[in-house]
Amino acid sequence: MEEFTINIIKEGLEDKEFSCQELVQECFSNIEKDKLNDFITLFKKQALQQAQDVDEKIASNQKLNSLEGIPVAIKDNILIKGERVTAASRMLENYIASYDAKVIEKLRDKGAIFLGKTNLDEFAMGTSNETSYFGPVLNPHDETRVPGGSSGGSAAAVAARHCVFALGSDTGGSIRQPAAFCGVVGFKPSYGRVSRYGLIALSSSLDQIGPLTNSVEDSAIVFNSILDQDQNDMTTIKPDKVNISRIKEGMGNKVIGFPKNYYKLSIDQEIKDGFENVLQELKGMGIKTKEVDFSFMDEALAVYYIIQPAEASTNLARYDGIRYGFNKRDAQDLLESYLTNRDLGFGKEVKRRIMIGTYVLSEGYKDAYYNTAKRVQQDIKFRFQKMFKNVDAIILPTTPSTAFKLSEKFNDPLTMYLADIFTVAVNIAGLPAISLPMVKKPLPIGLQVIGNFMDEQNVLNIAYNLEQNFKFINDVE
Ligand code: GLN
Repeated sequence: MEEFTINIIKEGLEDKEFSCQELVQECFSNIEKDKLNDFITLFKKQALQQAQDVDEKIASNQKLNSLEGIPVAIKDNILIKGERVTAASRMLENYIASYDAKVIEKLRDKGAIFLGKTNLDEFAMGTSNETSYFGPVLNPHDETRVPGGSSGGSAAAVAARHCVFALGSDTGGSIRQPAAFCGVVGFKPSYGRVSRYGLIALSSSLDQIGPLTNSVEDSAIVFNSILDQDQNDMTTIKPDKVNISRIKEGMGNKVIGFPKNYYKLSIDQEIKDGFENVLQELKGMGIKTKEVDFSFMDEALAVYYIIQPAEASTNLARYDGIRYGFNKRDAQDLLESYLTNRDLGFGKEVKRRIMIGTYVLSEGYKDAYYNTAKRVQQDIKFRFQKMFKNVDAIILPTTPSTAFKLSEKFNDPLTMYLADIFTVAVNIAGLPAISLPMVKKPLPIGLQVIGNFMDEQNVLNIAYNLEQNFKFINDVE
């Protein structure tokens, strides 16, 4: 099989080139053989049963649903009814979800086969997957390196062909950055496109669920399958599907913006070279490009690391071991119970963010930090709007470096936070953005395409054209 993409797999199933049971079995064999630690929980029995049902349907020539028989991996902060959902935290090590997330309900309706739950940074806080209670995920391109985070398990699983596509969540880059490190496509829709019902909240005003896939077209297919307006998530907006055949049309007269002065930031030479090549390619393709002032990306990073911990500290207040979550059960009184459960249940990075978040929201500091960050957020939104008056989309590298070594940055939180410099502004402004591979070897490098609010059609159209031009295939053996 040349490409591990939805339509190719569907054709293979329908033409009986392989059975669904063979396909699913192969995914599980690869997961077990590769030992990347990309899954926290596997649903082997249910998945193989479901595959058998699909094979029977094919044998009796019944028409398959749009995602029927397609093996999918789900980030372990998204609820699947009756299954464990850990958010990669000891706090939820044995927690069983009591309902399906909206996105799960939608994928289930379309017949997707859930293979299991993927590893992530604890409560989705991290950039390397190293904060997981279940240990780090290894990058399939180089197992001494991190896969990125927080959706590191989902990205590694797609890159290593452990599934055809995966779902991740993106609060400050957690879909796009691991996609870039693992050489796959990662798409974060506009805030409000996809229901967050059943997603364990990190920062509710920034979180968004989206796909990790082997092609831009697959990202569009999955996006169309999961988007919905949902009364259980009042921030969801009109569910405009993208038109997939129009995504494949040319780019017409579109003008692509690219940041000036970005090279003043400390970024790897190979990223600069890769990006310069893309700009040359665009010129060669006859595409108009224009420099834009994206100098506010460092402000966006500062704003992100105030708003995100503030909301996280509030969202995580519910985990005290009393209603649910880790409970050591030998405390003398209520205060001791809170203290021990939260001390032992949460890891170091989560505690760090709870402390920062509590501090920036505390009496006397809220104005200086949180309220100021919210004002700068408005300004950032405004500056993006101004940019989109002159350009149809903005491109820039997804990350300032390629996948770094395991434990290289783990004890240096500030350096780790700097790795989010190119991705967080998008969440601060609620915009859609995609990362696609611009270089595959020796280590993958991601190119990011950012569009205006709700302009997924345009983002995917540009990304599709670039992908066709670069002609990358997933070549991890
Ligand atoms: N790396 C960022 C952080 O650690 C983004 C996380 C995310 O998007 N979930 O906060």
